Amino acid sequence: MSFFRSHIVAMTGYVPGEQPQGGKLIKLNTNENPYPCSPKVRASIGRVVQAGLQKYPDPSATAFRMRAGELLGVGADQILCGNGSDDILTIVTRALVDPGEHVRFAQPSYTLYRTLAEIQGAKCHVINYNSDWSLGPDFTQHCDKLRLAFLANPNSPSGTTLPPEEVARIADALPCPLLVDEAYADFSETNCLELVAQNEKIMVSRTLSKSYALAGIRFGFLVAQPHVIHELNKVKDSYNCDALSIAGATAAIDDQKWLEQTRGAILATRSRLTERLRELGFDCVDSQANFVWCNHPEHSAKSLYQRLKSDGVLVRYMTYEGWGDGLRITVGTDEQVDALLGLLSFL
Ligand SMILES: *Cc1c(COP(=O)(O)O)cnc(C)c1O
Repeated sequence: MSFFRSHIVAMTGYVPGEQPQGGKLIKLNTNENPYPCSPKVRASIGRVVQAGLQKYPDPSATAFRMRAGELLGVGADQILCGNGSDDILTIVTRALVDPGEHVRFAQPSYTLYRTLAEIQGAKCHVINYNSDWSLGPDFTQHCDKLRLAFLANPNSPSGTTLPPEEVARIADALPCPLLVDEAYADFSETNCLELVAQNEKIMVSRTLSKSYALAGIRFGFLVAQPHVIHELNKVKDSYNCDALSIAGATAAIDDQKWLEQTRGAILATRSRLTERLRELGFDCVDSQANFVWCNHPEHSAKSLYQRLKSDGVLVRYMTYEGWGDGLRITVGTDEQVDALLGLLSFL
């Protein structure tokens, strides 16, 4: 059909990880939290349902922004809420990038950055990570048409993190704003929130999908300087967060004790998984997130993925053009990880 914009016809579209509905697969492929969310989230959503859903929600999710602002030490006017952090990334791209302009991101990383640039009709600068997962000078190279750079930190699929000093240096050197995608920051020893006050070009996105076990309700947010949030607000859908997700997300961040406990469990399982994978001969990167990136010197990542899947364990096989491939394994419960390791004992 010829009615579509030419770059929509030309693009492939984002391919999410497999989401088998129902079934008995052990799902270690899309970095969901294996534990159920805080019971306070369920209670809070239940109260909203009880009260009825006939009214529109608060368009700017004020209750969440007030609470998150206190927790993170920023103003409520420094927070923009979204329908998952993917919505935040969409809003930022739409607000900053015109057709024909350029967007920069590293590879291997979150593949949605390319999709968002392509929808916009922008050109992509894909900068390969160095073999030690650092970024070279190409990432900050000047370009007149560059409008936005994305940096997943911790990165997916590697789980590696650039230190905040390095991110600050990158942001200073870049000729455009830098979106630091901190989807996994709650599992990391460091984060870049403090940089927002120092540099208006730094925006930090977070999600409740991973650390708060709320991938099902879709809630994410951005932290930036107030005048940046003010402009971005004009671009979002009026009611981009619904009443259930606002209530659930607010209750979730209110229960920091739940977060502490769940994080503790996941970090302990992460250490054990990493150690065992290494004993089985995998090259395994030290992770600051809730997943582990690995390759085996004698077995292709693809064949391992297929074998595990046919045995009932789903992990993520990732392949990047001009770079290579590997397995990204989500840190599940101890039982799930034991099942995976049991299947790998043939190695
Ligand atoms: C999961 C993920 C997101 C998206 O999270 P949602 O809030 O569920 O949209 C963003 N960035 C990275 C790097 C992720 O892995």
